[in-house]
Amino acid sequence: MIEEMKIWIVFTVFLAAACSQKTFDGDQVLRAHAKDNAQLDVLRELEAMEHLQVDFWRGPSRPNLPVDIRVPNAVLQQVKVFLESNSIDYSIMIEDVQELLDQEHQEIQSTTLRERITGSFSYSTYHTIEEINNFIDTLVAENPGLVSKIVIGRSYEGRPLNVLKFSTGANRPAFWIDTGIHSREWVTQASGLWFAKKIVTDYGRDASLTSTLNKIDILLEIVTNPDGYVYTHTRDRMWRKTRSPNSGSTCIGTDPNRNWDAGFGGAGSSSNPCSETYRGRAAHSEPEVKAIVDFVKSHGNIKGFVSIHSYSQMLLYPYGYTSAPAKDAAELVHSLYKLLVVIVRNQIVYEDMGILFLLLYYASGGTVDWTYNQGIKYSYTFELRDTGRYGFALPSNQIIPTAQETWLALTKLIEHTRDNPY
Ligand SMILES: [Zn+2]
Repeated sequence: MIEEMKIWIVFTVFLAAACSQKTFDGDQVLRAHAKDNAQLDVLRELEAMEHLQVDFWRGPSRPNLPVDIRVPNAVLQQVKVFLESNSIDYSIMIEDVQELLDQEHQEIQSTTLRERITGSFSYSTYHTIEEINNFIDTLVAENPGLVSKIVIGRSYEGRPLNVLKFSTGANRPAFWIDTGIHSREWVTQASGLWFAKKIVTDYGRDASLTSTLNKIDILLEIVTNPDGYVYTHTRDRMWRKTRSPNSGSTCIGTDPNRNWDAGFGGAGSSSNPCSETYRGRAAHSEPEVKAIVDFVKSHGNIKGFVSIHSYSQMLLYPYGYTSAPAKDAAELVHSLYKLLVVIVRNQIVYEDMGILFLLLYYASGGTVDWTYNQGIKYSYTFELRDTGRYGFALPSNQIIPTAQETWLALTKLIEHTRDNPY
């Protein structure tokens, strides 16, 4: 009996260890400044050194754009020496990643408790997928004439891919918004929840949103990578990719923002399954991506498409996979400019206004390059807060301000799409 108990205890301890959350004690986020392309190449070399397990929060793209690297505590000195010996300037953005995650965890616990006591739903905290799915079903139940839920497919692990459809009439053109295709970018899913509530609150009250929804549908996929999102809650807060296995490798997952059939396999994506930017074995190999592809094609009347990421506070337009300008570049920049002016008036100055006239970086196989090539002219990528102080561990008291400023920009783009039919 005692032996049995011992085995049971050992087994339980083993199980607890196996299922526990990954920790980031003493991990730092370093911001490197590459002066030229040669230094960028050195940083790419660092990225390729698998044994170091460094995690690029902002990858090497072009000189003078910061490169943020989460460095595990165990290799911190080694990486700093590597940077110094290559004369690459760097600063410490985050002293201890785990400290931020502990604060985040505590805040979630106390808000959840408050929500349970008051029976309320807080928009200024991070929610689990169960809470989000309950929220979606409640929203649909409470607004039957305005909101419906479409299941456009299933994730690799079999979770429903839920899209909220805000619509007041049949056969209308649509504007698509997705959040959370990279699972660790938690402020994006949290903003998606706020957008959904904002739409049902404003319809019938706010003249512009009402007139928009009388002409155009809004489609919103909040948890675009549900398997990854669950994994960020249960195992590894910094998980970015999908959770599909890769044959011939022990590394899991594909970068769903390199998996689209738009310059697939080109620069800015990796063929290594262990890389955070692994493109997958083929374009649209990921069911989370394929579901959107099929939906967009069968819908046939989507006129605007915004894919939302964090962080870096930038607004990007096609193309990422080629330096050839998009046919509509002038108009795309013009509409971005109009909405940026609005944001500036509201005191939110996005980091680098010059980004409007830059190609951000070569990242092939990205979402909005594909949607643009499908004829969806108004295709953009948004990168929400912040510029790196907290990165992916953005404190939850910034969720609502982030969602508000983003919504301001989104409504301008949706209005532009509504008023410029093509
Ligand atoms: Zn992202």
